[in-house]
Amino acid sequence: GGAKVVIVGGGAGGGTVARIIKTEAPQIDVTIVEQRPIYTSCFNSNHFFGGFRSFASLQHSYDGLKKLGINVVTDTATGIDAGKKAVNTAVGTTLPYDRLVLSPGIDFKYDAIEGYSAAASEIMPHAWKAGPQTLLLMRQLEAMEDGGVVIMTVPGNPYRCPPGPYERACMIAHYLKTHKPKSKLVIFDAKPTFSKQGAFEEAFERYYAGIIDLNLTNEIDDFRVVRVDPKAMQVETASGTKLKGAVVNVIPPQTAGAIAISAGCAEGAWCPIKPENFASAKVDGVYVIGDAAIAVEMPKSAYTANSHGKVVAADILAALAGSDPAIPRYRNTCWSLLAAEDSIKIGADYTPGEHDGKQILVPDHPFVSQKGETAEVRRKNYAEGLAWYHAIIADAFN
Ligand code: FAD
Repeated sequence: GGAKVVIVGGGAGGGTVARIIKTEAPQIDVTIVEQRPIYTSCFNSNHFFGGFRSFASLQHSYDGLKKLGINVVTDTATGIDAGKKAVNTAVGTTLPYDRLVLSPGIDFKYDAIEGYSAAASEIMPHAWKAGPQTLLLMRQLEAMEDGGVVIMTVPGNPYRCPPGPYERACMIAHYLKTHKPKSKLVIFDAKPTFSKQGAFEEAFERYYAGIIDLNLTNEIDDFRVVRVDPKAMQVETASGTKLKGAVVNVIPPQTAGAIAISAGCAEGAWCPIKPENFASAKVDGVYVIGDAAIAVEMPKSAYTANSHGKVVAADILAALAGSDPAIPRYRNTCWSLLAAEDSIKIGADYTPGEHDGKQILVPDHPFVSQKGETAEVRRKNYAEGLAWYHAIIADAFN
């Protein structure tokens, strides 16, 4: 048969690699190992909290990829044998490969917050992997009485989707404003600054004054959450601030998906890669893309995972055909919804280059939304963001 490409993780990154390779070279045997039968996108899941999107519209099956002839295995990859070039799965299957792509997304550093755990997340949801956690957080907001306090805790960098917590803040606040106007959203943030901060803070003031209470870490107060008590529904910061909430959304610090770490691809929490093709800097024959990779300046987003996926697919196709790899181009744009039809964006192009003698991805043509932009500009951003959602779903799942 043809060469074998195995991809662990059928999300934004993995789906993209699989679809491009199978479409361009149908003779290649392409397998995705994905633990869940249905993918629920984290991207745009915040819109659900604001009432701007249904939960069902975030869910995507693997039927499109199966129809292309991709072998989608619903199973958990439990180990990588890089010597034998094989992936082992939970049900005991061994999948041999010529090229392996890991796009497993993130896992949580539960032990960074005393009292937090997978079990505690059933009471204080993270909703930072979409699916049942997203529904749980929404149900808790719906069940809360008007006048309740919602707490959101935000980790330090790097983590999945840098602007995501602040978009979520807007969407939760929009829900509170329109359904429970006496309620508040208190944010405890481990960082002093954040992505698209100017435009976000303007929106907090303009739309959600009196609802959002943003606490950024500063010289006096460290608002990193160090302890939670799910029974008392209480959180505690490094400076000793304690607060009880009716709903508590804990966004914990994160690591690369566990399988990438156990495969030996990680240095600390994330996986270093070669900027020219996202090959693992640590394990031969393995690529690491999406959130699991640490690509220095490139943020962890679905847009970047898709962008890595395109480069890796081209690199694998070139390698298997014995031709030269193309010059890689990467790109990111992240849109965040502030209120109805008011969306802001940030992005850049990235090319491999040198910095302090190290090979990194150098940002080029960066752009970011500013305060005080017209409604028309913001509406156009919103339309672009929706078009992007359709495009990435088509790239990764259809
Ligand atoms: P994922 O898309 O998470 O895919 C990983 C897949 O691997 C999962 O389906 C998982 O089940 C599977 N998997 C993991 N381990 C195994 C294993 N051992 N065996 C089998 N399967 C496994 N990005 C944007 O670009 N724009 C946005 O507007 C945006 N908004 C966001 C809002 C929120 C609230 C959040 C949380 C994230 C947002 N993101 C956004 C970020 C985006 O969701 C991620 O960056 C993106 O999904 C990363 O793609 P990935 O392929 O690395 O991981």
